Amino acid sequence: MKKITNSIFPLFCVIGCLLITNCSTPDSSKIENSGSSQIIPTSSAQSNIGIKKIELKEEVVPIKLGETEIKVVVNKSSVAFPVYLYFNMHDNENTAVEATKEIISKNGGTLIELQADGQRLIKFSLNKKQYTFDPNRIFTDIGIKKTLDNYGDYAPEAQKEVSNFANKLAKDYFQNSKLLVAVHNNTEGNYSIKSYEKGQEFGNDAKLVFINPNTDADDFFFVTEEKFYKLFSEKNYNVALQDNEKVTDDGSLSVYCGYKKISYINVESEHNHLKEQVKMLEVLQDLIKNL
Ligand SMILES: [Zn+2]
Repeated sequence: MKKITNSIFPLFCVIGCLLITNCSTPDSSKIENSGSSQIIPTSSAQSNIGIKKIELKEEVVPIKLGETEIKVVVNKSSVAFPVYLYFNMHDNENTAVEATKEIISKNGGTLIELQADGQRLIKFSLNKKQYTFDPNRIFTDIGIKKTLDNYGDYAPEAQKEVSNFANKLAKDYFQNSKLLVAVHNNTEGNYSIKSYEKGQEFGNDAKLVFINPNTDADDFFFVTEEKFYKLFSEKNYNVALQDNEKVTDDGSLSVYCGYKKISYINVESEHNHLKEQVKMLEVLQDLIKNL
């Protein structure tokens, strides 16, 4: 009897370990049917064998801004579901673009990018004058005025042009999406999840903040809905929940989405943290797909 127990025990161990590994690994491959395509969200660390790559189509859509044409690059997957819109608005944040393309070629979705010669700020001319603005400060009237003032001259006619530009983005892209996912990159040691702690620069803009001290503070989620905050914090990911009532109106997309009740998640990571940002986007997919 003792002999039998001894010989079976290692087998139980192996089966037990396999079960435990499968249950606790957040990136376990899961197969879901989406139309005719089989989509297998898988961690980039895992083997690519068996993953069907979804074809991406690129389209460049020009939008007139004064006498300047701003290009919106649209990368759309051939699979329509899920209806997530990823938005890269700062043209110098390229890790975010690379990470998002990797994700939508596996899971579907659409990425739009604003082109600005590789710069964060967008410049345009109107009546032979040049204006400059931060594209993440143009989604409210107060924000547009502040950002034009901040980077040079302000004129009411320039404000109107920028406002039309933002409205066009909202009408053509934001309004049809189930979830708006902003993808950004930041620089080590500046803006981070710690900026939302009480007493810090954006402490008054956040209702709740969760920080995992064992992770890089530059890699974090910023959300406008408590259900998303709950999902990420329960899984130990850095996350801040915007206080949609008290947040400073700086014209950013999170403020706009908070006011308009559009589901919004910002996936923010440090420049060149490609692996980390891909992982965050995968976690996002895994956590919210059943909502
Ligand atoms: Zn950015």
